[in-house]
Amino acid sequence: MVIAEKTLIAQVRRRAAHKTNPAVLTGIGDDCAVLRLPPRPSRDRREEKRGRGPEKDTLVTTDFSLEGIHFRRDWHSPESVGHRCLARGLSDIAAMGGEPVAAFLSLALPRDLPQSWVNRFARGLLRLAERYSVTLAGGDTAESPDGILADIVVVGTVPKGKAVLRSKARPGDRIYVSGELGGSAAAVETMRREMRKKPKRKLHPGEYPRHFFPEPRIELGRILREKGLASAMIDTSDGLSTDLAHICKESGVGAEVEEEAIPRASVGKPSRKVDLQFALHGGEDYELLFTAPRNKRIPSRIAGVPVTHIGQITPQQKILLVSPSGVASNLQPRGWEHFR
Ligand code: ADP
Ligand code: MG
Repeated sequence: MVIAEKTLIAQVRRRAAHKTNPAVLTGIGDDCAVLRLPPRPSRDRREEKRGRGPEKDTLVTTDFSLEGIHFRRDWHSPESVGHRCLARGLSDIAAMGGEPVAAFLSLALPRDLPQSWVNRFARGLLRLAERYSVTLAGGDTAESPDGILADIVVVGTVPKGKAVLRSKARPGDRIYVSGELGGSAAAVETMRREMRKKPKRKLHPGEYPRHFFPEPRIELGRILREKGLASAMIDTSDGLSTDLAHICKESGVGAEVEEEAIPRASVGKPSRKVDLQFALHGGEDYELLFTAPRNKRIPSRIAGVPVTHIGQITPQQKILLVSPSGVASNLQPRGWEHFR
């Protein structure tokens, strides 16, 4: 593949923009598509006449989990792969302030994959699904020529017109992030290092929970939307620098981030804080990165999750990182990008 993921998506997006169905309110370019589906025909003729639309919009997201790219069979237990597969989709629903309803799972599996791997994968996925009352409602299964491929589609809802988009950040808004950053990338880095050693040590999932069993921030996203606190939101799947760039690009704004304010994850045993680079650019933390107008008071903890003020939105379309001594430098989006 010669072109970067970002360029490829931009091209598909331009082509797709011509074929429009009015039910699609938000298409390519956000964490989920937002659809306003026609309401159920009403038995009440008067209601029908008043043209009562649906009270909720529908959210749809789809995400791949590929062996060798997103997980490795020798690093991740099948339960972790199943959990992370669904968590990716749930996290996108959270980023819209939505509530998940159903999931669809497509699997392509190598012929020699033991049945027990699939059973344990399903157990990890369904355990998470049950906790969020998400029904696995369909999917597809095929043989894969090489490696395990899983695609998850998650469908959710949000009250009509209330989906929190990437495109609504405004100059002066404050920037916040939930939880801590860099823990997932630090786990990958440690596993890479262990691979070169003899004997290899297996990472303890409990020491790197954000990597092996990330908790989607559904409750936090819902509260931010319900209380009208967030102006724009995204989940940190690619890394802070890249995901903030997505918000800025879609909103036509820039940002300033205080280096010292970025909450860095503690990992390992004895636990240590991850390097700044991991917190800035490491992907797959599945935290929520959001903006809020200055006049909104944002509690430092919401639904049990710490929320940290890390910067502000600016009118100039560039993203700056401000060092503890006050020196500003460009923050390049160096998070995860396929084909780069
Ligand atoms: P996320 O990390 O939230 O899942 P992505 O960065 O993967 O989002 O994708 C950005 C946007 O591009 C999303 O709206 C997604 O649906 C869309 N997108 C990605 N790949 C494709 C594709 N092959 N065809 C159409 N839309 C795509
Ligand atoms: Mg996302």
